[in-house]
Amino acid sequence: MTATRIGVEISCDGPDEHTDCPNSAAVRAAYDSVTARQVRANGREQGWTVRRRDGRLRDLCPTCRRPAA
Ligand SMILES: [Zn+2]
Repeated sequence: MTATRIGVEISCDGPDEHTDCPNSAAVRAAYDSVTARQVRANGREQGWTVRRRDGRLRDLCPTCRRPAA
């Protein structure tokens, strides 16, 4: 029996509450990154940020982390 191990996918929550990410971006997780914490660490290396909004963590890709003017 083989089990394929699927890690956590962290995808961009978009620039604000009502707007989807224009790129539908997701963190490219390293091969051995399984937990959300590990994947977020990969994301930080790729320019992602995590923000707390309304008590929830929102993941922002490099495009969305700067609010549109
Ligand atoms: Zn985004």
